[in-house]
Parts: sequence; C-alpha cells; structure tokens
Amino acid sequence: MTETRLRFPPSPTGYLHIGGARTALYNWLYAKKTGGKLILRIEDTDTERSTQESIQGIIDGLEWLGIDFDEGPYFQTEFSADHKAAAERLLAEGKAYKCFCTKEQLDAKREAALAAKQNLGYDGTCAGLSEEEINAKEAAGIPYVIRFRVPEGDRRIGYDDKILGRIECDIKEVDDFVIVRSNGKPLYLLCNVVDDIRDRISHVVRGQDHMTNTIKQILLYEALEAPVPVFAHMPLTLDTKKAKISKRSHGEIVAVQFYRDKGFLPWAFNNFLVLLGWSAGDDKEFYTKEELIEAFTLERINKSSSVFNYNKGDAKFFTDPKAIAINEHYLRTMDITELGELVKVELKAEGLWDEAYAGEKQQWYHHTLDMIRDRFHTLKDFTSRGRAYFADDFDVEEKPLKKNVLKYEELKEWFPMLADRFEQLSDFNLEETERVARELADELEIKPGIIINGMRTVVTGQLAGPSMFDILVTIGQERVVRRLREVAKLYPA
Ligand code: GLU
Repeated sequence: MTETRLRFPPSPTGYLHIGGARTALYNWLYAKKTGGKLILRIEDTDTERSTQESIQGIIDGLEWLGIDFDEGPYFQTEFSADHKAAAERLLAEGKAYKCFCTKEQLDAKREAALAAKQNLGYDGTCAGLSEEEINAKEAAGIPYVIRFRVPEGDRRIGYDDKILGRIECDIKEVDDFVIVRSNGKPLYLLCNVVDDIRDRISHVVRGQDHMTNTIKQILLYEALEAPVPVFAHMPLTLDTKKAKISKRSHGEIVAVQFYRDKGFLPWAFNNFLVLLGWSAGDDKEFYTKEELIEAFTLERINKSSSVFNYNKGDAKFFTDPKAIAINEHYLRTMDITELGELVKVELKAEGLWDEAYAGEKQQWYHHTLDMIRDRFHTLKDFTSRGRAYFADDFDVEEKPLKKNVLKYEELKEWFPMLADRFEQLSDFNLEETERVARELADELEIKPGIIINGMRTVVTGQLAGPSMFDILVTIGQERVVRRLREVAKLYPA
C-alpha cells in the first residue's frame, strides 16, 4: 500500500480557532494511525489578508496542542510558478481557455437568465473563440480570465466521501469555472490542487464548507492526470445558536491560545476537541494519546455539525462545560511529576519557582500539588487559589473572610495565642497541631470549627480545601505562625 499523506493547510488570516484545530487534530490522528505523514502548508496566497502574526499564532497553537508535522511548513506563495505552470498546461492542452467577457456582460447575462428562469452558469461565449479572435482581443489589451473547460458528455461525477458517503452530480451541472483571475493570479481552487498533487496527498480531510469546490477540484485532478485523493468532509463546529464559529462573531473564546493562556492542559484540550464531532460509538470520554490513535477512524466522524457550548460555562470560564470537565479530570488524575513540570512553568511566570522544588523540596512540592489539585480547574489555579502554598502575598477571598474571620473580633486575640503555642511545638505534625487547636477551643469554650475555619481562611485565603491539619503541616510552622500572628491585618482599621 502506498503511504498515506495528509495535510493541514490553514489560510493565515486569523488565529487558530477551535474548528481549525480540530481539523488539524483529525488529520494528525489519521496520519499517526496509518503510519503516514502529515504536512503543514500555510496557504498564504491571499496576501492582503495573510499576516505574519497569524502564521506564528497557528504554529504556536499547534505546538501547544502537540500536533507535530512530518513536513513543512511549506508556504503556498513559494509555489506560484507551479500554479501558473498548471494553468498554462491546461490552456496548452485545450482543457482551459481565455475568457474575455467583462463583468458587465456577465451580469447582464445573469439577469436575463434569471428573468427567463434559465441556468445561471457561464454560457460558454468564449469557449469556442478561434486563435485569431483570441489574438486580436489580446492585442487590443482586453483583460481575460482563464476558465476550466468542463468536459462535455453525459456522466455523473463524484466521490466516495469517507464521512458522508457517495456525493455526485451530473457533469452538465458544472460550469466552466475560473481558474486564473484577470490579474494573472491563479485561484485558490487551483493552487490547492496543484499543491496537493505536488505533496502527493492521499487523503483530504477538511470542513464541509469546502465541499462546493470538491467536484471542480476532482475535474482538475483528472485534467492534470493526477490520482484523485480520498475526501472526507467534516461537519462544522457551530455555536449554540447554530452559527458558524468565527473570530469575528465570537472573539477570543474560540481561539486555541485562549485555552493555553487560561491554563488548560494541552492533551485535555485535544481530548475535548476530538469529541467535538467524533466518537468511537461508546461512552468512553477520556483517551490517552495511544488509545485515541488506535480508536480513531474517519468513518466515525459525525455527519452532522457539532455544537461548541462556549456560552454555557460558568461565569469564571465562560466556555464549554465539557472542556472544563475534561480538563479537571486530567488535572486531578495525571502523573504528579508531569503535573509538576506544567505547574513549574506557571510558578516561574509568577516569580514563585524555587529550584529546591526540583531538589530537596521535591517531595513537598509533589505532595502539595497532589493535595490541592482536587478542587482546581486549570493550571492557573495553582498560582491564584493555591498561591498561599508558594508565597505570602496571596489574596484572601471575600466570602470566607467575612464568614470565618471578620465575624469573630476575638480572633485578633485568639490567633496570636494559637501562634505562640504552635511555635512551641518541636514536632509540627498532624496530631500535634490538631491537639493544640482543639485544646485552645476547649479552653475558650468555643466550637473547634471557629478555630479551624478561621485558620483555613487566614492561612490559605480560601473557603474550602484539603484537610486543615494537612494544610498546616504543608504550609509549614514558620509561615503558619506568622500568618496567625498577623491576623489583625485582615480587619478594617
Ligand atoms: N486553506 C483552506 C482553509 O484554511 C483549506 C482548504 C483545504 O483544506 O483544502 O480553509
């Protein structure tokens, strides 16, 4: 069998969004599954809309997701000679022709056809021009486009779409379409085919929005005497109002970078993306990379569009709840050493990384992450909600501050007392800290909960979290003593 060769050919006119990333992922999975190759081709022929920033954004986004390429990035603009040569070849072989019809003429014909309820396609005026006529028009400087000459005859033309099944139409329904504009620029439709032929692409896996081109492109493959690749047209990703996801209408919430910057885990995000339009046919939700490569097939990609519930999430994330749920799952269950590496990046960015976390304090570091991750949603939580474990400048949340601290003025006296007793402990462990805290509550004839909840707030800034005494021991004697002693700072002056 010949090697499978797939490509991801984004047009760099915006950031890498959910839909594009999913297309890249499906191509990547299929290439991996079949032991084939994946090629990155930046389709930058639309020079007015393509930007360097977008190219970089796409490359960074793919890198973050871990979608790697075997070849590329190639840039479509570097191959413009190939595109022109293909158009010349089609002209020379009579498979294309120069069309001198002006826009005004075409518009008038269209209107007339519309009024007469006739076929609106190109009527073939220039299809049969003689060489003399062509030369005369060219000499007179009349601009022209190049049209593909759709073969005559009576046949059905189509393809077996891997997702949608047989797609075909009568060849008569296809007009002689333009392949080169009057400014000499080949159309995207042609460039895309020429590049896919050169890159020996065996499978074209792309969005259904490209289906309007596919039959025409198959005619181009035939005319250029190249093997036609297998096509698989994926359903689109829509929002909850059934509108196509786009940067213009949805903003950054649909950009892959948004999720990276919000602290999502790359593999969790891939896992979310793959399920947005594919399932193995069971309820399995979480896949390792190897499992997914094994399970993935083009045939099981959904036929109908999928919905990105970005506005169904809670106010904090404002994204698809499924994306958050999958992220939490990985964050809370992944290998602690791997998580440690990811949190290290976050801590470094905040200036909170201590080299000892990779050395003599590594056990402490891993224990801390394991202890606090249970309530966390993203990597950002480690430096925000988990900040008290790594720094003294953490925020105290308003709700627990009111409920557990400000409500009891007496804590201003009680906590310095508790701090003194904690300071005396020669072994600051779970049992001892608990004993001291409970003894103090007994002596003061108050519920231990007042001390415990107050401590949680003062020591971590949070309303809830892991077992309080585990927290104390993890945060450490010196820091706990200091935070308790300084409790008065939390009250209004
Ligand atoms: N450049 C096209 C796009 O970004 C890709 C077309 C294709 O996959 O054939 O939509």
